Amino acid sequence: MTTFQLLIGGKSVATADHFDIKNPSTGELVGQAPSATPADLDRAVAAARTAFKTWSQTSDADRKAACHAIGMALEQHADELARLLTLEQGKPLNGMGSRFELGGAQAWTHFTAELELPVETLQDNAKAHIELHRKPIGVVGSITPWNWPLMIAVWHIIPAVRTGNTVVIKPSPYTPLSTIRMVEIMNTVLPPGVVNVVTGPDDIGARMSTHPGIDKIVFTGSIATGRKVMGSAAGTLKRVTLELGGNDAGIVLPDADPKAIAEGLFWGAFINNGQTCAALKRLYVHDSIYDAVCNALVEVAKNVPMGDGLDEKNVLGPIQNKMQYDKVVRLVEEAKKAGARILTGGTAPGGPGYFYPITLIADAKDGMSIVDQEQFGPALPIIRYTDVEDALARANASDNGLGGSVWSADPSQAKSLAQRLECGTAWINKHGAIQPNAPFGGVKSSGIGVEFGTQGLEEYTTIQVVHQ
Ligand code: NAD
Repeated sequence: MTTFQLLIGGKSVATADHFDIKNPSTGELVGQAPSATPADLDRAVAAARTAFKTWSQTSDADRKAACHAIGMALEQHADELARLLTLEQGKPLNGMGSRFELGGAQAWTHFTAELELPVETLQDNAKAHIELHRKPIGVVGSITPWNWPLMIAVWHIIPAVRTGNTVVIKPSPYTPLSTIRMVEIMNTVLPPGVVNVVTGPDDIGARMSTHPGIDKIVFTGSIATGRKVMGSAAGTLKRVTLELGGNDAGIVLPDADPKAIAEGLFWGAFINNGQTCAALKRLYVHDSIYDAVCNALVEVAKNVPMGDGLDEKNVLGPIQNKMQYDKVVRLVEEAKKAGARILTGGTAPGGPGYFYPITLIADAKDGMSIVDQEQFGPALPIIRYTDVEDALARANASDNGLGGSVWSADPSQAKSLAQRLECGTAWINKHGAIQPNAPFGGVKSSGIGVEFGTQGLEEYTTIQVVHQ
């Protein structure tokens, strides 16, 4: 059992207090995470501010090279990080689990390293020469959730560092260890103070949002916490990027082939046990193929091994924590009471670990809590519809607007419907696919701003216009 330490100004820093991190598959102790005090946070911010003075002045080529060096260091330590991630997060090594997450973290790092924000000439004539320059903002405070801890940390850290900012990251108290270790690895190739990590309870995150030494917050987490972050960032007028929750709808049109789409629907919903912001969380299926789609999904579910993530045969693990487990149990029980029909799963097995079976819920209806709320777990409500316009209206009748999808044998018909979904990303015959070259973000309550691509990189800069 290892006791982890904060990493501030390039040095490991011991804390007086720690908290236990337990394996969600077994309940066994994985390690102890340091409990940062407000004074530790102040030290981390001060280290980042000092480092900003020189890091912001490094050349574009040097910062690009540093990001590639991080990508290579992550590759060298990928096995170690994947194992630690599995132990504390629960996701399996295999499938779309820890190794997949480490692969994504490296791919995003190298892709983002290559992005450029060149000076733009806005006007060049006898009257004036006007240029638009992009400058780093300063110290970026990164607050991350527990579902994809390393990938999301990379989504925050790499564009910040690439554009000349410095970072203080605070991971979720459920999954802090892998982030601490990843930041230690990043520090082997970065100057001290460019990336710092503090861990501790939620109120460290709240302090970051009000901290006068932090210039921008990039936050990924729930809508409820995102609202608090935005409110408390107002006092110091911090820039914010908020990547928040979703309740993504998928609409299956009557011409779709149930067997052909079942696998895509299934993994769109159950990637990482449904604990994914842009997972498919409500499925609207036309009455004419409703039973066939339900049956095809049950067939896929039969062949998906779930269990301890260290066992190579498993591709799904437990729910990550008790709070989320209790929520999924409650939402499924409420759906049963309201008349929904369980096609598979639906009963908690008990025993060690927060295991909950893949659960497919037929005859689900709008107004049931499992349809109206983000379940963030391995339970998918399937809702019957007869009129496509009605299904679209129901899909859009949500404060959430992260992703959505349309499934059909006719891609052009699907595309025109997908464009009417009120969401940041609309997929056709797939769900949840994200790439480092395609900006990703939510509309409505699902967020403010985007990540990835040039547009995502711009969020880590301020504009300075130079007239002469
Ligand atoms: P959460 O909001 O509970 O916590 C997220 C982070 O915020 C944690 O580090 C937590 O310690 C911190 N925090 C808690 N209270 C805070 C406060 N008052 N001020 C500042 N920080 C505070 O979310 P979670 O349960 O860890 O993550 C699951 C949620 O994240 C889901 O809703 C999911 O959809 C969403 N999510 C969104 C995206 C996206 O890109 N849109 C990606 C992943 C997850």
